[in-house]
Amino acid sequence: MKVLKLDHIGIAVKDLEKVSQVYCDLGLKSEGIEVVEEQKVKVAFFPLGDTEIELLESTAEDGPIAKFIEKNGEGVQHVAFRVENIVEAIKEMKEKGYRMIDEAPRYGAGGAKIAFMHPKGTCGVLVELTERK
Ligand code: ZN
Repeated sequence: MKVLKLDHIGIAVKDLEKVSQVYCDLGLKSEGIEVVEEQKVKVAFFPLGDTEIELLESTAEDGPIAKFIEKNGEGVQHVAFRVENIVEAIKEMKEKGYRMIDEAPRYGAGGAKIAFMHPKGTCGVLVELTERK
C-alpha cells in the first residue's frame, strides 16, 4: 500500500456559507459546493498547496456530520490520505488488524473512492483513505 499525500482535512460545520467566509478571508478559493447524497452532506473544497480543506455541512439531522457536531461541536472531523489503490489499502489495513467503517470503497465528493477507518483503532482520529485521479 502506498500513501501519496495528505489529501485533505475534513472540518464539520453547521453553516457552510458562513464558515466558507473564514477560509475566503484567509485567501483561499472554494471550488464550489457539492452535495453528496449518500453521506448526507454538502461540501466545499478549498485547495491549499498540495492539499485541501474540506468543509462539511449535514443535509439531514441523522447524518454522520450532524451526529459528530452533536457530540463534539464544530471542528476537525477527519484526515484523509490519498492512496494509490484503495482496495489494496483496505485489505492491507484489515490484515494489520485495523477496523474499517467501510469494508468496501464508496463514492465521496469529486467522484473519489473513499473508505473510513474506525477512530477507535487509530487513537481517536477518523482516517479517510481516498483514491482519486
Ligand atoms: Zn473527506
